[in-house]
Amino acid sequence: MISLLGAPHDDYSSHLKGAAAAPGPIRDALWSDAYGLITETRVDLGAPGVLVDHGDVAFPAGRDPWDAIEAAVDAALAAGHPLISLGGDHAITHPILRAVRKRHPRLTIVQIDAHSDLYDVYQGNRRSHACPFARILEEGLADRLIQIGIRCMNPHHDAQIERFGVEVFEMAAWRGQPLSLDGPVYLSIDLDGLDPACAPGVAHPEPGGLTTRQVIDIIQAIDQPIIGADIVELNPGRDRNGLTAAVAAKLLKEIAGAMILTRAP
Ligand code: MN
Ligand code: MN
Repeated sequence: MISLLGAPHDDYSSHLKGAAAAPGPIRDALWSDAYGLITETRVDLGAPGVLVDHGDVAFPAGRDPWDAIEAAVDAALAAGHPLISLGGDHAITHPILRAVRKRHPRLTIVQIDAHSDLYDVYQGNRRSHACPFARILEEGLADRLIQIGIRCMNPHHDAQIERFGVEVFEMAAWRGQPLSLDGPVYLSIDLDGLDPACAPGVAHPEPGGLTTRQVIDIIQAIDQPIIGADIVELNPGRDRNGLTAAVAAKLLKEIAGAMILTRAP
């Protein structure tokens, strides 16, 4: 079984809000009659009980949204299944990892993104969606961070990569290299890691990115247990005919299939 959780939060987006509206369109594409529920790897996600949807995180006034996300992820993980969270913008990965890390003393994050999201602070906000992986590494919430598809680097990013020992495959150097993973994996997919031709519905469309096929190949090549994942930064107001939502649902299916196939016995 695989758990799903929506995290409709975009208060810390720097440029354009709208990612909070993403979970609905991704679910609509997932369950649409237009698409099947058998993965390319022949896992039938449509069989009863395979996908368990925990609904959306609620954000009551007066409660720190990071506490709300951490608690909701904690509750979903208590079911004992791998979890796929649907953003929201990329900032949500920080509180998600606070909950995930409690159950996984060994953890490698594989991040697909146009941006390294390693700013110490961005526009005065340490919770900005440009900062989550700086917070995650500062708090020791992962042992390794591997980034793929990065194509917006500056000297501050270079310094942060050095400081935290991040393993970066810049887009210009990506040739489908093996990742040499060892132990549980958390997969964080920012849809702007894909080329805007494949995934136009994002706040920061950055040309020169990964194809949908390349991302699926990365997912299918993971040979260690995938214990959690997120798909973030779908901005439905910027999408074209639901294409990016359909890509998000496709990636969700292949991640769920990989979670089932890589699960430790
Ligand atoms: Mn990102
Ligand atoms: Mn990005």
